[in-house]
Amino acid sequence: MDDTIVAMATAKGEAGIHIIRLSGLKAGTIIEDCFKPQNKERWLTRENYTLNLGVFHDEGKVLDQVLVGRMLTPYSYTGEDVFEINCHGGPFVAQRILQACIRHGANLAEPGEFSKRAFLNGKLDLVQAEAVIDLISSRTETSANLALAQLGGGLSDTIIKLREEILEILAFIEASIDFPEDDVENLDRETLESKIDKAFVDTKNLLDGSKTGKILREGLLTVIVGRPNVGKSSLLNSLLHEERAIVTDIPGTTRDIIRESVSVGGILLQLMDTAGICETEDFVERLGIERTWNALKTAELILLVVQANIPLTEDEYHILKTYAAKVIVIVNKIDLMDDDYHIEKLNQKGSWIPFSVIQHKGFQELEVEIRNRVFQGEAVLESDPLLSNVRQISSLEHCYTALSQALLSIQNGLPWDILSIDIREALQYVSEITGHNVQETLLDDIFSRFCIGK
Ligand code: GDP
Repeated sequence: MDDTIVAMATAKGEAGIHIIRLSGLKAGTIIEDCFKPQNKERWLTRENYTLNLGVFHDEGKVLDQVLVGRMLTPYSYTGEDVFEINCHGGPFVAQRILQACIRHGANLAEPGEFSKRAFLNGKLDLVQAEAVIDLISSRTETSANLALAQLGGGLSDTIIKLREEILEILAFIEASIDFPEDDVENLDRETLESKIDKAFVDTKNLLDGSKTGKILREGLLTVIVGRPNVGKSSLLNSLLHEERAIVTDIPGTTRDIIRESVSVGGILLQLMDTAGICETEDFVERLGIERTWNALKTAELILLVVQANIPLTEDEYHILKTYAAKVIVIVNKIDLMDDDYHIEKLNQKGSWIPFSVIQHKGFQELEVEIRNRVFQGEAVLESDPLLSNVRQISSLEHCYTALSQALLSIQNGLPWDILSIDIREALQYVSEITGHNVQETLLDDIFSRFCIGK
């Protein structure tokens, strides 16, 4: 980390402004070489967190009028001296300033290199660093809130506490191995078992919450299914607030799967509108229907659209029976019914939602139902420290397995040095989550997913 890095922090193209970010030991010298502040006195006070107007020049030529933000070590994103040059938003202007910085000794930053330095300098742990990527790529309010909460350090604190619990267990075991006294061992075993059990339960709670966290981050793979003409495409369009799927009153017009993402009640649905399920001689339509059946297997949520004034078909019964846990039934076209009693009866059957796409009825109930499923009633709250990242979840799952193995070992009266192997393994995995103990290749892999300039 001896070198000084530079990159454009804003996206390429024309914009109001561009920001060029500079970090490292030589950043201050480069700025002294190329920046002429309007208010020299103020500049020379080296006051931190100031924005300074002036001109950026190189080889005797003025390149632009700029504002330079100054964030000196250790109070910066990377922990190093950081300067952010706000220039006019032309790609040519920004490029010239970038080249000038390189000419004066900076190297072009790799993707995520600023964040990697922040991690290596202890400004962020891995959970927070990965939250930065998630925040940048979040597409719903809930996923942005989740990433922001993780960036704030709440989740890291929970993981760090769990790690400390496991460390304490290890210390307890090692002290007992060092001073084995038969008469206290039984007493110690009980204490140890309760400590392991506590860490095990804490891990399980975190894993339970991670199901919701993962959905908030990645969305729910959702299939809209039903016989032709029940209003599937109309539902999709209403959810999307735009005409994306073709709506006609001719059955069988959606022959392939249409994919769209939409936020329903703050939850991202990765929606697939499918070909209507029916008996058909049409070869293309049959292929479409086959894909629909396959899509149902992988779906995490199925919106089964049925028609209020027509009895269920065998296929609809089959879907209901096979995929009960992940089906919400949209009983569409209730506007065609005058039998209120019948509608009320449907309403009482849990996930059956009386619906009229045309009259815009049922959408709110659908939102509530989806949120209830994601937040498991109210077992999980949006404000909980939720794990959502696949890498972190996988490490926690390994930690959970190691702890359950340790519990088994102690219950079966196995020697303590065997126990310590399981606990060490649990410690290794929990440490990986925040980056207490990670290999360089894993770091490279994580930070290469960032954009340049972040
Ligand atoms: P799909 O084949 O299942 O995708 O059905 P479409 O969305 O193409 O709709 C078929 C027909 O049903 C169209 O004429 C829609 O306008 C009509 N439709 C959709 N929703 C409703 C509804 O809630 N009430 C009534 N009466 N008609 C609807």
